[in-house]
Amino acid sequence: MTHEDDKGIPVRVALRCRPLVPKENNEGCQCCLTFVPGQPQVIVGTEKAFTYDFVFDPTAEQDEVFNTTVSPLLCGLFKGYHATVLAYGQTGSGKTFSMGGTYTSAQENDPSVGVIPRVIRRIFEEREKRSACDFFLAVSYLEIYNEDILDLLCPSKDKTGLCIREDPKEGIKIVGLTERQVSTAQEMVGCLEVGNSVRTVASTAMNAASSRSHAIFTITLEQRRGTDKADSIVSKLHLVDLAGSERQKKTKAEGDRLKEGISINRGLLSLGNVISALGDESKKSSFVPYRDSKLTRLLQDSLGGNSHTLMIAPESTVKVTKLLERNRTLQEENNK
Ligand code: ADP
Ligand code: MG
Repeated sequence: MTHEDDKGIPVRVALRCRPLVPKENNEGCQCCLTFVPGQPQVIVGTEKAFTYDFVFDPTAEQDEVFNTTVSPLLCGLFKGYHATVLAYGQTGSGKTFSMGGTYTSAQENDPSVGVIPRVIRRIFEEREKRSACDFFLAVSYLEIYNEDILDLLCPSKDKTGLCIREDPKEGIKIVGLTERQVSTAQEMVGCLEVGNSVRTVASTAMNAASSRSHAIFTITLEQRRGTDKADSIVSKLHLVDLAGSERQKKTKAEGDRLKEGISINRGLLSLGNVISALGDESKKSSFVPYRDSKLTRLLQDSLGGNSHTLMIAPESTVKVTKLLERNRTLQEENNK
């Protein structure tokens, strides 16, 4: 797939079914899916078949997933297209495993690392190949929790609850968010590590909030030929580990928990709505509801339009629900 093939397909979905984890094996769980060789299709039980843009069975390795789905987006990025990779699924399905957001430099030669460290490596390799241009790279790392934006690269008090503004020239901006200029892969990995240490501390205090917050690692690539800044191409890549898509149990949700449940659903729910609106040919000209949540608002200029979006939907093989159907159910629940 080249990025040209992507035109008119704003969002691609890759279903990735993970192997059973030891706990599931011990409990006697069995895989309930059949994979159709050579087809991006999965059959649940004996009859229900679902087709995606890509389907990866439990034997698929990280490099295969990366090369097939993410690598083409990086070609686009160097041509000036924005791109977004989102991991969407229930807690425990493999979002963090697939995104590789918890990568540390100690894992340098580990083949099981996920998307983010592979992206970092590839970007710097590509830069080496393109000596005719000057490259400027910057990263930011944030978390959305309860519709609050937290700056993971500068976690001081005044860096929570950041606002989103739309700049007529530069597009969506988060006011006050730290952007670190980096010139090596090590520096970029360093930012990931710093952000993760902040996230871990915060999530212990907030009771394992990582499954209830969205983490967004953003790489901005500026390419300049010559010295004229006006002559530059800027493209952005968002790498998103979404909150768990499981429904919050209403009976147990009280106080803060209830607020959490609602606002997480708000992000995922509006993401579902935005993606449905983008994917629906008949609604091409109609309104895309980006403004319904912080998540969709800050991804606004990277979802749809001239951008490429990949949704990696990890699933445990024990249960499979169709991505957008699941969102629709969530929506119905919320409307009750
Ligand atoms: P999530 O972030 O969606 O809550 P995790 O990424 O933490 O889920 O994955 C849950 C468990 O499953 C972890 O132990 C992880 O290592 C394992 N896992 C997930 N996907 C795979 C995979 N494709 N292959 C092997 N193990 C996986
Ligand atoms: Mg996770």
